[in-house]
Formats: sequence, structure tokens, C-alpha cells
Amino acid sequence: MERRKVKIDSSACIGCAACVGTYPDDFTLNDAGLADIVTGEADAESVDVCPVGAISVEE
Ligand code: SF4
Repeated sequence: MERRKVKIDSSACIGCAACVGTYPDDFTLNDAGLADIVTGEADAESVDVCPVGAISVEE
């Protein structure tokens, strides 16, 4: 598991909670029902769980 700085494109997020379900320590849903990153870092493979490509790894 590689920890990387990730970001969420809130305009693309559909609030499906797949990221939260798979990585509950890294992602949470905010009051708007969209994903937020808990610590700013997440498993690099979390990019793959988002069905709409809203999670990306920052270089
Ligand atoms: S998996 Fe993607 S679309 Fe679903 S809540 Fe997470 S960031 Fe949003």
C-alpha cells in the first residue's frame, strides 16, 4: 500500500461512497454528501475504486 497525496474533484463526485466503504480511514462524506479526504493522503489504489474518476493522485 502506497500512501500518496490525493484530491477529489467535487464537481465529478456522485457521492456513491465507494471510497468511504473501501478506505474508511481515508475518506468521509461531507454534509453535502460528497467525498472528503480525511488526512490529505490515501492509498494510491483508491483512485481505482471511484466509478467516475473523481479521485486523483497529486504529483
Ligand atoms: S468513490 Fe468517487 S464518486 Fe464515489 S463518493 Fe468517492 S469520490 Fe465520490
